[in-house]
Amino acid sequence: MSEPLFDRLAIIGTGLIGSSIARAARAQGAVRTIVATSHSSQTRKRIKELGIADEVAETNAEAVKGADLVVVCVPVGVCGDVAKEIGTNLKPGATVSDVGSVKGSIVRDMSPHLPKTVNFVPAHPVAGTEHSGPDAGFAELFENRWCILTPPEGTNKEAVEKLAAFWRLLGANVEVMTPDHHDLVLAITSHLPHLIAYTIVGTADELQTVTRSEVLKFSAGGFRDFTRIAASDPTMWRDIFLANKDGVLEMLGRFNEDVAALTKAIRKGDGEALFEHFTRTRAIRRGIIEAGQDTPAADFGRPHGHDD
Ligand code: NAP
Repeated sequence: MSEPLFDRLAIIGTGLIGSSIARAARAQGAVRTIVATSHSSQTRKRIKELGIADEVAETNAEAVKGADLVVVCVPVGVCGDVAKEIGTNLKPGATVSDVGSVKGSIVRDMSPHLPKTVNFVPAHPVAGTEHSGPDAGFAELFENRWCILTPPEGTNKEAVEKLAAFWRLLGANVEVMTPDHHDLVLAITSHLPHLIAYTIVGTADELQTVTRSEVLKFSAGGFRDFTRIAASDPTMWRDIFLANKDGVLEMLGRFNEDVAALTKAIRKGDGEALFEHFTRTRAIRRGIIEAGQDTPAADFGRPHGHDD
């Protein structure tokens, strides 16, 4: 095992992602001590039972005291409030990061509350499942997944590199981009697919002519894969759509145009247009498998769900 990169890691919000970071950091010896906290006393009790942290703090402000790396793992909509709570207790020189699925709004919400003496390096591990809470986490979650760092302009380069090393130790590949570019990329690769899944599952639920039991019975025809994505946490996804309004609306506009084109092809019986479109999309699927981001297996090859 290598030398720890950080002495003391504080995890704020110990759900799926926070608990996975704690588990992976411990498994890899990435830090010496892990302190964790969460909003509810029930979750804090559970973290103690699971033994995934060395210490469990009662408050966010308490948890960050003396920490060299603070990772905020709460829903996007509360990141600003958390930054406000911890701001004055941060150790000078500490690195503060997060894992939120949207980056522009988090930089805007958190930055004003963080002192100039800390290095703020926002991050998004593009890895997850549709499950929530500390029991859902596992140490291998980030293996061979991407973690995108979005440091605001002027961020200390050494701090960025050290956080990148931390994520690599946890098994992730690291890429750096601006917060706005991240939000556009994720709008098409994650946010829009979730919106489509939420829509289609809702549409099926409201059908009169096809019964709910028929939808469930014949779900292997494609519907089943949407239901897994549409089972994702409602709080997390509400916050993502509110926070990445511009990116999602941009991609939704393009998507609606393409749906209109396919609608027209179906109405006109234009088989050539449909065949050409489906051939192009099949090549994208092959590209994803070649990039090691999925397996050719019928169901998702990994034991746990999908990426956000
Ligand atoms: P989760 O399992 O629901 O965990 C979120 C945790 O945040 C909960 O344990 C909750 O605590 C805690 N929390 C909420 N408000 C808090 C506050 N004010 N102070 C302290 N703790 C608070 O959700 P998750 O999937 O880990 O998501 C966390 C973040 O990761 C989100 O920003 C999400 O966008 C991002 N993300 C998620 C995925 C994914 O696939 N799930 C992937 C990449 C990134 P209690 O249980 O105590 O209420």
